[in-house]
Amino acid sequence: MMDTFSSYWRTAVKTIGLLGGMSWESTVTYYKEINERVAKALGGLHSAKIVLYSVDFAEVEEQQAKGDWAGSAELLGRAAKGLVAAGADAIVICTNTMHKVADEVERAAGVPLLHIADATADALLAAGVRRTALLGTKYTMLQDFYKSRLIARGLDVLIPTPEDVEVVNRVIYDELCLGVIRDESRQEFVRIIRDLEAKGAEAVILGCTEIGLLVKQQDSPLPVFDTTILHAEKAAAFAVTD
Ligand code: GLU
Repeated sequence: MMDTFSSYWRTAVKTIGLLGGMSWESTVTYYKEINERVAKALGGLHSAKIVLYSVDFAEVEEQQAKGDWAGSAELLGRAAKGLVAAGADAIVICTNTMHKVADEVERAAGVPLLHIADATADALLAAGVRRTALLGTKYTMLQDFYKSRLIARGLDVLIPTPEDVEVVNRVIYDELCLGVIRDESRQEFVRIIRDLEAKGAEAVILGCTEIGLLVKQQDSPLPVFDTTILHAEKAAAFAVTD
């Protein structure tokens, strides 16, 4: 039997709107991680209230390659409106890269957007990290939209050499987003992390939501900050907090 307070609390759980499919390989992780955390917080048979809009990643990747960010903002903004119409109280974009259009998506949705770089910066700062390596797509590593948000929080951000930016980007799009996990690629990532450690990084951000499928903490010479897990944690906390 539930008392009145806990029954109120439980019905007050908020609904998370996932903008996923970028790629769907990592959206699976979001779904699982958010549910596990909400279930743990609430107990019993409770699970997360989630609505999901899963895009066709080929369309998004084509827009990225063309630099058509306005088209992406339009596509994801429309999807976010759909999530809100379906009951979402907040939007979670399940990719680091597409936070390039986070402001436009949040404006279109009219509900809070839980930003992946904020979740990541919070965790790094709580762990006392000041200088971090960042691995992600070439957009995330080379452009400003993501790094500037970390730098604004007082973090120093190191990225791989131009050759290694290409290696990481290629593995993301040609392997991880297709569900291909290769030992050789893991070894390449570990080599790149070691190189960034030698340049002074104290930790590494897995700043692409699929990298955690390839590189685990036990593989890495540096403490790993997996953006998928950190973002899912923020979403679960939002869902169960009044
Ligand atoms: N999921 C990846 C990320 O976190 C890459 C796929 C994409 O371009 O959205 O950036």
